Amino acid sequence: MLRSSLLSILTLWSTLSFALPQESRVPGGIALIDLPASTSAPKVEYQGTRVMVVPTEGDSGWVAVVGIPLSANPEEQQKLSINGKPMSFGISDKAYPEQRLKIKERKYVEPDPKQVARWRKESAEQKAAYKAWSEPETTVTTLAIPAEGPYSSAFGLKRFYNDQPRSPHSGLDIAAPDGSVIIAAAPGVVTAKGDYFFNGNTIIVDHGYGLSTMYCHMSEISVELGQKLETGDQIGLVGKTGRVTGPHLHWGVSLNNTRVDPLLFVQQN
Ligand SMILES: [Zn+2]
Repeated sequence: MLRSSLLSILTLWSTLSFALPQESRVPGGIALIDLPASTSAPKVEYQGTRVMVVPTEGDSGWVAVVGIPLSANPEEQQKLSINGKPMSFGISDKAYPEQRLKIKERKYVEPDPKQVARWRKESAEQKAAYKAWSEPETTVTTLAIPAEGPYSSAFGLKRFYNDQPRSPHSGLDIAAPDGSVIIAAAPGVVTAKGDYFFNGNTIIVDHGYGLSTMYCHMSEISVELGQKLETGDQIGLVGKTGRVTGPHLHWGVSLNNTRVDPLLFVQQN
């Protein structure tokens, strides 16, 4: 009896209070924008995409949790629409370090037209998953680290493969040994699953309100498309499928269809 009422208080508390992600108003970061008090959550859009909005503690205010793309120009004001009304905020520049990688397998450096066609199709599938907007009961605003190991490549690195410039690193690499367990970083639903050309065995999990996480290069996937997950559920094993230089988990976090630094969502103790 006592335990169940305690549990219900805890559940209520967890749905009412939000440990917000760490703010970092830079390309690849997150802006927390205070919004005026209102009885219902305002509808916020950034670059035409719906943005997560969470209530502030103690009053009837709201906070927009905005993912800022790595490609955002720090010299320009970032424009939001709040219930159709314009609002803007500024960001600072961030100098991400360079990373130069040597890829031996020729197909990953100069894919042939068939491989390019495959990549295009898979890329569309993953982009569609990132655009998901769902409204679960609980808003996820913090994430658990999905695998144990040293961080081998940080988010945002300016990448060169065999000296050719490529897109910046859109996630965090965790160098866990081959076969290590990977867990779901938060409750959610599997919205993409595939053996992709560059990303290898991959899943994307939708956590709601525009937040999703991606797990790549797995040796094995242990969940199905559409499966519901809780934090800590095993989703697969660390591997070296796709374009890699060794076994690791590439962990990506997307907010309002924008890849942001995953560690901003991890509570630092
Ligand atoms: Zn990576």
